[in-house]
Amino acid sequence: MSDDFLEQDVRYVKGVGEKRANVWADAHGVRTVRDLLHFYPRRYLDRSTITPVERLQESPDPVTVVGTVQSTNIVPGKSQKRFELILQGERGGRMKCTWFQGIWWVRKAFEKGDQLAVHGKVEQYGRWFSMTHPDFDKLNDEGAILDTGRIVPLYPGGEAMEKVGLTSRSIRRILYNLFKEHGLKLQETLPERIVEHCDLMEGRVALRAIHFPKSQSERAQAEQRLKFEELFLIQLMLAQMRQQQDEVAGPAFDAPGEHTKEFVHDVLPFELTGAQKRSLREVIEDTQTGVQMNRLVQGDVGSGKTVVAVAAMMHAYDSGYQSAFMAPTELLAEQHYQNLLEYLQPLGLEPRLLTGSQTKREREEALRALRSGESPVAVGTHAIIQEEVEFDSLGLAVVDEQHRFGVAQRAEMFEKGQQPHMLLMTATPIPRSLAMTLYGDLDVSKIDEMPPGRKPVETQLRSEKRRGEVYAFLRDKLEQGQQAYVVYPLVEESEKMDLKDAENGYENLKKQFPDYTVGLVHGQMKSDQKENAMARFKDGTIDILVSTTVIEVGVDVPNATIMLVEHAERFGLSQLHQLRGRVGRSDQQSYCILMAGYKRSNEAKQRLEAMVRTNDGFEISETDLKIRGAGDFFGTRQSGMPDLKIADITEDTDILEEAREAAFSLVERDPHLRSEEHQRLRRRFEETYAAEGLGFARVG
Ligand code: ADP
Ligand code: MG
Repeated sequence: MSDDFLEQDVRYVKGVGEKRANVWADAHGVRTVRDLLHFYPRRYLDRSTITPVERLQESPDPVTVVGTVQSTNIVPGKSQKRFELILQGERGGRMKCTWFQGIWWVRKAFEKGDQLAVHGKVEQYGRWFSMTHPDFDKLNDEGAILDTGRIVPLYPGGEAMEKVGLTSRSIRRILYNLFKEHGLKLQETLPERIVEHCDLMEGRVALRAIHFPKSQSERAQAEQRLKFEELFLIQLMLAQMRQQQDEVAGPAFDAPGEHTKEFVHDVLPFELTGAQKRSLREVIEDTQTGVQMNRLVQGDVGSGKTVVAVAAMMHAYDSGYQSAFMAPTELLAEQHYQNLLEYLQPLGLEPRLLTGSQTKREREEALRALRSGESPVAVGTHAIIQEEVEFDSLGLAVVDEQHRFGVAQRAEMFEKGQQPHMLLMTATPIPRSLAMTLYGDLDVSKIDEMPPGRKPVETQLRSEKRRGEVYAFLRDKLEQGQQAYVVYPLVEESEKMDLKDAENGYENLKKQFPDYTVGLVHGQMKSDQKENAMARFKDGTIDILVSTTVIEVGVDVPNATIMLVEHAERFGLSQLHQLRGRVGRSDQQSYCILMAGYKRSNEAKQRLEAMVRTNDGFEISETDLKIRGAGDFFGTRQSGMPDLKIADITEDTDILEEAREAAFSLVERDPHLRSEEHQRLRRRFEETYAAEGLGFARVG
C-alpha cells in the first residue's frame, strides 16, 4: 500500500474544490492532502477549559469564554474610535470585548445573537471585565456540540478563509470525511524502533487525535508525537549534513607556527582568556585532521572573538594558506579591516579589503594580491565567496555575525569545489534549543568568559523629560576625561537614509557641549571620512561621537564609557545589546542610557525592560526569541529551516533533544537511509525538503 494519495492536490478532496483550495494555499500553504492532515488546530474548546463569565478575574494568562452577542457598538472615545461588543454568558453574566483596530471589519463580522468563543487576557475596567482584540470563533448553532462533551478543534482562519466558507466547522467536516475514507491507509513514517524507544503514539492515531481528540490526554500525546516528528525531520537533515561534512576533505594545517605564536604572544597587548585559548585550541585541532572544519565560535559581545579568528588566520598562513574574513555589511567589513591592519602589520603582512565602494583600481589591485598569494587575508562581505574572488590557496573562511546567515547559505557558500575550513562567529548568543536547530550541524566553541577587569554596564531608561539630567550626567563623565557615543536609528542601512535626526542631534550637542569636540559618522560618508572620524574618536580628539548604527558592531574604543541611544524604542533587542557592548570595554564603570518616547509598542516596552533587567546575552536572546517568535528570530527563509507547524523551539526543548538524539543515531547506523525499514521515512524526508525548496538536503 502506498501513500500516494498524500501528495494529491487538496482541491480534489471532498468539500474543498478549486476556490477554497486556492485560498487555503495562499493563506496557509495547504496544497496537498498531506498538508491538510498537518493543518493543525490552533486551539480547542471543551467544557473543562471554558471559564464562565461569572467567574472572570484579571489574570496574566488568556482564558476562553463562550457567550452570546448581546450588543455591538462603535464608541467615539477621546482619541480613538473603538468597537465594543457585549457578550452574555449562559447564566446571564456579561463581559466586554474591545477592538481598536480593524473595527469596520469586526463590526461586520458580528451580529446580535451570534454565539462566540473568545480567547484572550482579561482586564478589569470599573465593573466590567474586558478583553482587548480577543481571538474569536463564531460557534452559532455549533455551541450544542460542546454539550456532548466533545473537544472541538478551532482552526487558523482569517477573512479570506471565511469568505470561501473555510470556517472551523467546515474544516472539521472536510477532515472528518477524509479520515473516514483514508484514515486507515495512513502509514507509519517513523521507524518502528524509534516509535517504540521514544514511546510515541502511532502516526495514524496521532493525526486523527490531533483533529478529533477523545480526551485532553489523547490530544497531548498526539501533540507530542507530531512535534517529535517535525523536529526529527529537521534533525535528520542536520545529521546528514553533518555526516556529509565529515566526509569532506579540507586542507591539513600544520602545528601552530611562527606567526601564530608571535601574534598571540607579542602583538596582542594582553593574554588570551581561558575561553579564548580553548576555542583556539579547538580550531587548531580541527584544522589538522584533513577533514573540513565547521566550527561556530559563540560568545557575547565584547568576549573577544575577533582575536581568536585572527589567530586562526595566522595559523592558516603558517600552514601556507590564505584566509577570507567575511562580515555581513560593508561597514563592518571596513571596521574589521582596520583592526586587521593593526594586528597584521607588525607581522609584516598586509590584508586586502574588497568592497563595492572601492575604485576599480583599488579593487583590481586587491584582487591581484589575493590571486597571486601575495596577501594572506581578504576582508569583505560574503560576496567574496559568491563573486568567486580568486585565491591562490584559500584555506580558511571566517564568517562574522554568522546568525545572519542560515544553514542554506552556508551550504551554498562553497558549492564550487572550494572546501576551506569554516570558522563562524556569532555575537548573538542564541538559546541552546535554537542552536541545536540552526547550528545543529556544527561544532561549537563557547567563549563564555569576559576579558578580566570588566565591570557590567549599567543600563538606564530615560524619557525626554529627563534629558537635562542625562546631559548633566554626560558632562560629568566628559569632565573626567571619558568619551561617549550618541546613536540614532536608521530604518534601513542600505536605503538612502534619513540622516536628519543624527545631523540635528549633532548640531544640538555641539551647542550643548561647546567645550568638547563632537564628531559625526554615518553610513553615507566616504570610507576615508568615516575612518578619519573613528580614528579621532579612538585617539581621544573627539569626545562625543554622534552616529547612526554604523558603530553597532565591531567598534572598539575602551575609553568610551557612555552609550546614549536615541529613540531606543525603534531598535531591535539584539541591536541594543550590541550597542551596549560598545562600552564597558575597560575597567571603568560604563553606562548605557536608553532615551525612549512614550509611544512604545508592547514589544518595544518588553525590549527596553529586558535591557534594563539584564546584561546577559543569553537572557537577552531568549527574550528576543520569545518576543519575536522563532520564525521571525532569524527569518525562516534566511535560516533555511522549514516552518514549524506545531513544535515550538523555545518550549519543546525536551522533545527536541530526544528527536536530535534519535536522528543522529539513525544516521550513524544508516547514513543514506538505504535500509528497507527506512524507505518510508526517506520518502517523507525528501518530500518535506523538496516542498520547502531546500534542494541541498539530499540523501546521498
Ligand atoms: P567581540 O567578541 O564582540 O567580537 P572583540 O573581539 O571586538 O569582541 O573584543 C572586544 C575587546 O576586548 C577588544 O578591545 C579586544 O581587543 C579586547 N580583548 C579581547 N580579548 C581580550 C583579552 N583576553 N584580554 C583583554 N582584552 C581583550
Ligand atoms: Mg566582533
